[in-house]
Amino acid sequence: MISLNDQVASKLPFHVMVKPRGAICNLACDYCYYLKKKEMYPNASLRMDDEILEIFIKDYISSQETKEITFAWQGGEPTLMGLDFYKKAVKFQEKYNKNNQKILNTFQTNAFLITEEWAIFFKSNNFLLGISIDGPQNLHDKFRRDKKGNGTFNEIMEKLKIVMKHQIDYNILTCVNSENVKFPLEVYHFLRDDIKADFIQFIPIVNEINQNAKTNFANVSEHTVLGTAYGNFLIKIFDDWVSNDVGQVFVQIFDSALASWMGYPAGVCVFDKVCGKGMALEFNGDVYSCDHFVTHEHFIGNIKTHSLANMLTSDVQQQFGLAKWNTLTEKCRKCDVLAACYGGCPKNRIVPLKNKTFKQNYLCSGYKKFFTHIKPYMKIMGEELKNQRSASNIVKILKNRNSQKNATKTKLGRNDPCYCGSGKKYKKCHGN
Ligand code: SF4
Ligand code: SF4
Repeated sequence: MISLNDQVASKLPFHVMVKPRGAICNLACDYCYYLKKKEMYPNASLRMDDEILEIFIKDYISSQETKEITFAWQGGEPTLMGLDFYKKAVKFQEKYNKNNQKILNTFQTNAFLITEEWAIFFKSNNFLLGISIDGPQNLHDKFRRDKKGNGTFNEIMEKLKIVMKHQIDYNILTCVNSENVKFPLEVYHFLRDDIKADFIQFIPIVNEINQNAKTNFANVSEHTVLGTAYGNFLIKIFDDWVSNDVGQVFVQIFDSALASWMGYPAGVCVFDKVCGKGMALEFNGDVYSCDHFVTHEHFIGNIKTHSLANMLTSDVQQQFGLAKWNTLTEKCRKCDVLAACYGGCPKNRIVPLKNKTFKQNYLCSGYKKFFTHIKPYMKIMGEELKNQRSASNIVKILKNRNSQKNATKTKLGRNDPCYCGSGKKYKKCHGN
């Protein structure tokens, strides 16, 4: 068990995902888990007013002791608040930034409503955009649709041109679902070459519908990605990335794996030992334990009556964060990739194990396969970093090794031992 004090001792910094328009969105992506949250607020405006905005910004800045403070605007769709709302937000940030901390605004959007005017604002205020794209058109349009059921790819590509023209910094968020998971390199090459993404997040879709009472097994939506398929998807992309793109393209899960390998925190809550430092703020000031746990039982307070620091260090929130470790299955505790995986996100721990209290992560088989596969490469990159060299040297190292192997291969007779070190004859191994 991790004790409460361990967690409280490292209470700062923290993040808040702000949802100024609540669960309202202009699109209707098939797999969205957030749209139904509006049912929690029947007859409400679902718009953050200036009072809540100001209280939040004042409180958030004053409770952060870091040199840099990151605001994360999210949704629903945050552009639906209109530009004036964010102009006010930036004014409040200036007003309450008494210690001259660096303020960064990140903005997760489907890009649909971005115009020249928005772009000028984003650029002049250094906003970092996160744009949701699931791959080339045939894959993107499969589930990311508007309210009439039409694909959204063409419109988003037009908006991306505006973003590029104004040289706004942007990342790409790709939801890995049951369809695009079958085409890893098509997705990766599209993002890298056509979208010119240099920072990519792959977010696996796991939507539990219910637990089947008969089989005691988790029922998931048709968009949900299978664990092994997700692992294969990551491996294919990793192999391409590690041979060509390290240092040029940043893929969040690869970065976090390298951080864990080096003995640092993963930097992504899903792969950290404990979590609970990323609360979610709804339009009316209600705060929840996490964006994935906006439910009545995970409500921790309202910013009109409770400070963010108090909510963060409350017993409820501390226990929530500690549960990531304390409810880990025996299988995870004995797993040899535990230090990189830590059982993944509790939201996806939906697979019951016979006679056990705690459930296994739905993506377990994929995580295991992926984290095992990348070990030799992590070792090489880790060595480079330890010796104050760049991890991107791995691209050259692998190319040299491959050309050496090819040179050896051409000299080998069919009965010579195979170059791979298997101990078998070349003709029975790689020469077969
Ligand atoms: S519940 Fe999952 S998404 Fe939420 S903070 Fe914990 S690991 Fe992160
Ligand atoms: S790979 Fe599976 S068993 Fe290992 S830590 Fe991750 S979820 Fe647990």
